[in-house]
Amino acid sequence: MISKKMLETGSRKSIIRVIFDFGKERAALIGAENVYDFSLGNPSVPAPEIVHQCIRTMMEEESSTDIHGYTHLQGDINVRSKIADDINREHKTALTGANIYMTTGATASLRICFSAIANPGDEFIVIAPFFTEYRIGIEQAGGKMVIIPARTKDFQIDFEALEAAINPATKALVINSPNNPSGVVYTRETIDQLTALLRRKQEELQQPIYLVSDEPYREILFTDEKLPYLLNEYDNSMVCYSYSKSLSIPGERIGYIAFSPKLTDYTDLFTAACGSARYLGYVNAPSMFQKVAAICNGSVANIDIYRQNRDRLYEALISYGYECVKPEGAFYLFPKAMEEDASAFCAKGRELNLLMLPGDDFGCKGHVRIAYCVDPMVIERSLPAFKKLAELYKKGQDL
Ligand code: PLP
Repeated sequence: MISKKMLETGSRKSIIRVIFDFGKERAALIGAENVYDFSLGNPSVPAPEIVHQCIRTMMEEESSTDIHGYTHLQGDINVRSKIADDINREHKTALTGANIYMTTGATASLRICFSAIANPGDEFIVIAPFFTEYRIGIEQAGGKMVIIPARTKDFQIDFEALEAAINPATKALVINSPNNPSGVVYTRETIDQLTALLRRKQEELQQPIYLVSDEPYREILFTDEKLPYLLNEYDNSMVCYSYSKSLSIPGERIGYIAFSPKLTDYTDLFTAACGSARYLGYVNAPSMFQKVAAICNGSVANIDIYRQNRDRLYEALISYGYECVKPEGAFYLFPKAMEEDASAFCAKGRELNLLMLPGDDFGCKGHVRIAYCVDPMVIERSLPAFKKLAELYKKGQDL
């Protein structure tokens, strides 16, 4: 008998798949230009030229075994040292290459951290709305996911609910700012309040509470305010970083974990991370893209396009009567659906060829995610449909 659990997981058709299939069918029928697909968080801007340039140079100047060979499980030490030096320069940290673990992107970074710290039944707190894959990663690690409901007025953190949720079973808190799906960036005040609360709770409970910060959108930021670097804010923190979005290379699978040198039981924890990666079947992150990451670290794709898209779409939606917290990062809008059932709202949108995702899977009912990492023309063409959808709700009409 095959694994029931894996069969069930593999058979569960995600809403993204349903919408993706719908989009393909509609495009074949009415032309791709008439389908407004805002369902996927796939970067729409090209990778910066430096990415291709360094691949070309590598191919010309380095030996095949150097480019394509295995590296250490944790990654090439030169790559890890270069990244640590860059982080130190930017954030005034004191990391060495030994504190960096190269991974196949943020998904793997999170999985490695979760499995490294979880014992059966340990609780992992996530703040809604949250990235859908947290659930499967926490479950797989043997942990239990505890959800703090969304503070929908601004998508910062409901601290009363968070404090009430922390108990002796709490192992870690997972945060994500800039956030998928809300696009919201945690303010300095939120980070200060959060880290003060965690320190106080650690003291009270006499146990470490780890902070796992999921940061694939770190550079996709539309405010001049600098994002606090969590390793400087809270000793028990790990930053899960990915180049998928900053360099527009999600298919290449490259990222890293930065472990705070001040983590409780640091040596054991890092050793457990190595064990966790082995257990999960990660050998080493792609060696060629480890080198690309080292050279291109700090470079960012042209995020001005995302900012233009955000401004155009946000302002248009507000003028049509949608309610939405203005996002300051990532490439998502998370407006309120115009009826309680966000899936029904998305289904009505699909009748106008607007493809959006209901917030339910992100732990926040009644909202929809619009991924605006698309060609600006898609936004222009979609606006009459967004307007019509709002008008139909205002008039209380069926489509
Ligand atoms: N975390 C968040 C919040 C994301 O939005 C994504 C991808 O969309 C990931 C993690 C996974 O990123 P990666 O491609 O690096 O695995």
